[in-house]
Amino acid sequence: MSKIKSSEAVKVVVRCRPLNRKEESNGPAGGIVQMDLRLGQVILRNPRAPASEPQKTFTFDAVYDPNSKQRDLYDESVRPLIDSVLAGFNGTIFAYGQTGTGKTYTMQGAWMDPEKRGVIPNAFDHIFTHISRSQSDKQYLVRASYLEIYREEIRDLLDPNHGSARALELRENPDTGVYVQDLTSCVCKSIKEIEEVMNVGNQARAVGATDMNEHSSRSHALFLITVECSQPGPDGRKHIRVGRLNLVDLAGSERQAKTGVQGERLKEAAKINLSLSALGNVISALADGRSSHVPYRDSKLTRLLQDSLGGNAKTVMVATLGPAPQHYEETLTTLRYANRAKNIQNQPRVNEDPKDALLREFQREIARLRAQLNHRKWRSKQKREQMDGETWEKDGDGETDGEEEDVEVEKEAEEYVKLEEQRLEREKQAIREDGSLLAGEKQRLLGEKERMMGDLRREQEATEQLTAQYKAMESKLLVGGKNIIDHTNEQQKMLEMKRHEIAEQTRKEREIQQQMLVQDEETVELRETFTSLQQEVEAKTKKLKKLYAKLQCIKAEIQDVNGEHVTSRQELEQTQNELVRELKFKYLIIENFIPPEEKNKIMNRLTFDPEEDQWKFQPLVPAESKSSQMKKRPASAVGYKRPISQYARVAIAMGAHSRYRAENIMFLELDMTPPNTSSLDHSAEAELNQSPSVDNLITKDKGVRKSRSWCQTPKSITSSSSNVSLTGCHTATAALAQ
Ligand code: ADP
Ligand code: MG
Repeated sequence: MSKIKSSEAVKVVVRCRPLNRKEESNGPAGGIVQMDLRLGQVILRNPRAPASEPQKTFTFDAVYDPNSKQRDLYDESVRPLIDSVLAGFNGTIFAYGQTGTGKTYTMQGAWMDPEKRGVIPNAFDHIFTHISRSQSDKQYLVRASYLEIYREEIRDLLDPNHGSARALELRENPDTGVYVQDLTSCVCKSIKEIEEVMNVGNQARAVGATDMNEHSSRSHALFLITVECSQPGPDGRKHIRVGRLNLVDLAGSERQAKTGVQGERLKEAAKINLSLSALGNVISALADGRSSHVPYRDSKLTRLLQDSLGGNAKTVMVATLGPAPQHYEETLTTLRYANRAKNIQNQPRVNEDPKDALLREFQREIARLRAQLNHRKWRSKQKREQMDGETWEKDGDGETDGEEEDVEVEKEAEEYVKLEEQRLEREKQAIREDGSLLAGEKQRLLGEKERMMGDLRREQEATEQLTAQYKAMESKLLVGGKNIIDHTNEQQKMLEMKRHEIAEQTRKEREIQQQMLVQDEETVELRETFTSLQQEVEAKTKKLKKLYAKLQCIKAEIQDVNGEHVTSRQELEQTQNELVRELKFKYLIIENFIPPEEKNKIMNRLTFDPEEDQWKFQPLVPAESKSSQMKKRPASAVGYKRPISQYARVAIAMGAHSRYRAENIMFLELDMTPPNTSSLDHSAEAELNQSPSVDNLITKDKGVRKSRSWCQTPKSITSSSSNVSLTGCHTATAALAQ
């Protein structure tokens, strides 16, 4: 299965967005982020520190300043990864950063503007252009899924009942790793189709959210693309390579406020933080290299990205920064986080002929349908030969090539049916005109012919259906250089190629520059030969100064990291305290208010689900008998709320018949004040004397009230009448009070 077994580090690039209008108007301070594009360095200035304090410098695989173009980032940092995915590697790109720093802009961008299209739409173009330009012996199958993780629940964004559907579960397969059970996956045949999938998911994401920004800052969105490619190998057999691409737009990395919130809100905040802090812990454990345990199982996100972090995948992390001084702390945290991620080593390898390749299944199904069609063709030909007594001039070895053969099959089938119909029609005519036959005999023969015609039509329909099925199946597979027309002309292709070359060149140049910088520092003393003592002193003083500055930097760094550590520790302790308090409170309730036998009953029903990593209740009814017991309704209850006796049914049918009146001794309908039917023009006094509402009121006052249902004998109720009864009541109360 594995072809290339080498390890490579996670690529980390940093991008800083421009100051927005509000930040610009805040003051002349300007941005706190400076970038050295040539060296791939980010220099961060602390807006509150004195000017003498050294600035913090971080080095990454590439950096993109506010003037950078979407295209540059794609060509330099993403294109090589997508190329690997097309060659059968797993690939992941994730955008990490504080809310509002440009994660979604980087991943999706503005779709309409070709200059501002982000990583995802560019990747679509890239994948389908690659397929259209590849050789025709390659077959491709492209699938897409879209999900989000919100409050530690996985939601399928392509499910039409996204809002009401239950959360999906993660499963682990020893061969293929972690996957999401029952996740919708759409086969896409063109850029347009995959864009449609993306739009459907984006809309589903927006529908559930009252405030889109708020929602997207608290949920992770994962767009998954699987590209399967089948190609004949040197052994003559078709081999399948599967590349999986995860495009991840993470939740905002800023800490969710936990101070002052309690109960459900506290748990929510804790859950939102969970995935990101788990991601941080996984990155730390991997970057450290010494920890034997990597806590992948701590959150859904880390389990899903398990392969991308320290596993079989190539990974690019885009850390996004805001340049505003007020976000200095968050920016520094992001840079530290990204800096740690650089040290993660992955072991990517080509996925060759995996067991779960859908393309293989598709190919088998297509072959099966084709065999069925061929069989039909052969049968119809046989029949035709029998009918005509002549040999069919075309050979029937069934090996003629692809589409030509399909067209031929269809034509032959149509022709055969037409001829057969004509023949039957002729025979019918002959029977009708034959004077020697008896009327009954004629009818029988005609009936027989009719039946034969019916059979013929059914057969044709079945063939048509099969052909349609076959075509639908085949159209899902993309053949290299065939299904998609590449509209770009040669000049444009050349231009593209040149651009990629330049991107590649820039990348290499930067790598060499960075290497030189490191080597310079290490070998400086080896190269130095001093002619005089004075010169030596000068050189060494310079070096001392340099090293001293570095020492100061590291000291400051240690202090910062310690500070950060203390804050996060305090926060964790606070959360722990609050959770302990809540737990104690619940224990108190259990000890004092729940009888021990009830408690034991509940305890006995609890089981630990290792898959989900949590405790679960066993169902009260055993699983196997559950369906039979719960689903069946008693025969007498069909159509009713509860079982009903034969007697009661007759009573319903009879209406208010006196014989059946005693059935329901107690009326359980809603007992309401009987409606008043007196007309509008009655004066209040007259009502006082006659109105039943008065009578009712008095009985109510006495505290004795007959349980009777006026619904049994409905009277016509109008809204005006109830108004009258109300006014009547008021007048009546007034009169009684006097
Ligand atoms: P996030 O997804 O990280 O919360 P967004 O992608 O929504 O942030 O970006 C916030 C705003 O900043 C958007 O209006 C976006 O257009 C703008 N923006 C982000 N990055 C850039 C950039 N590199 N160039 C121009 N505008 C940007
Ligand atoms: Mg966003």
